[in-house]
Amino acid sequence: MLAWTAIILILRDGWHEAIGENSRPYQYLIVIGLDGHEFYRVKLDNTNSNLNSSNTSWLNNNKSSFAATLPVNAAMNHRGIKVIHRYTDDANGNGNYLDFWSPQIDINDGFQSLNGGTVYYDPVNGQLATGWRTINGNRYYFSDGYECQPDPDDLWVYNDQLHGQMYTGINWVDGHCYNFGNDGIARALPQNDGWSWPFPQSGEGWHYQGQKFGYTSNIRKNGYHDGLDFGTQDHPGSAVHAVHGGRVLDVNTVRDNNGQTMWWFTTIWDGRFLYVYQEAFSNRNKIIVKPNDIIYAGQVIGYRDKDHLHLGINTSPNYGVDLKNSFVPSWSDSSKVTGHGEWIDPEWAIRNRI
Ligand SMILES: [Zn+2]
Repeated sequence: MLAWTAIILILRDGWHEAIGENSRPYQYLIVIGLDGHEFYRVKLDNTNSNLNSSNTSWLNNNKSSFAATLPVNAAMNHRGIKVIHRYTDDANGNGNYLDFWSPQIDINDGFQSLNGGTVYYDPVNGQLATGWRTINGNRYYFSDGYECQPDPDDLWVYNDQLHGQMYTGINWVDGHCYNFGNDGIARALPQNDGWSWPFPQSGEGWHYQGQKFGYTSNIRKNGYHDGLDFGTQDHPGSAVHAVHGGRVLDVNTVRDNNGQTMWWFTTIWDGRFLYVYQEAFSNRNKIIVKPNDIIYAGQVIGYRDKDHLHLGINTSPNYGVDLKNSFVPSWSDSSKVTGHGEWIDPEWAIRNRI
């Protein structure tokens, strides 16, 4: 629904000079977008514009004084518009003309409240902003809003936040940490962009060949391993530390074909990678984070009570799709919001602090 229904335009005596009006007997109001797109025009006459008399000395200035009501239609919503007051010698308003432009009129554009947050409508095209935007010299980030997929098998596809919602507070974008404060202005916090090993006392340590990422000799479907395993022998201890910061998207279970819980997992998204911590936790209580928690590298997120932690890193936050593609290096699906996902070698990523 439009909060605006009409623009009341009042042009007072002497506001327009009406130079040369003798040769331009027709007047129009033209409603135009900032991109030059014309929404509509209204021909002014005595029936719609209470043209009245004037005391000023300009020639025929009396015809530049009136009040008019211009309806706001849906196409104008969320845009900046201007109104041209045109004198012309053409009955259709396109001939030899003299134009006077109004200041910009904002129709629910710019920053607006929506669904409990703040969004931004680009005044030029009326589009809801997503991603990075520089506005009045400040940088803001608006959620890409990865939406839940209709496919009922995609149990683990989550919003990164409501579509177009302005980030506030601490959050990650493109793998980097920012404090967006209450005002949404991005302030970089590069000190939070670091990496940790999941069992820091062991550091990188060592891995059995079958624990390693990619095509290994271990017996797996396609011979492919979509992550890196940290076992109790090679990496002892139970506290699992986040390898990188981000925001918790999910804490959930993977079930076998009989519907029995195999393990609990958590996924953390930093705007660049999805970090999947799985196969380590037998029940929900072993994971001590919850969705939307902000996590920093090195922070304990849970306690391993199974024989290994499997760490996966994917470029797509759509975990349902990622999981279906556990045995191939990447996936592409144009019907999905992110469209493409690729498994990253955790050992390489953490070691090189990419
Ligand atoms: Zn594994």
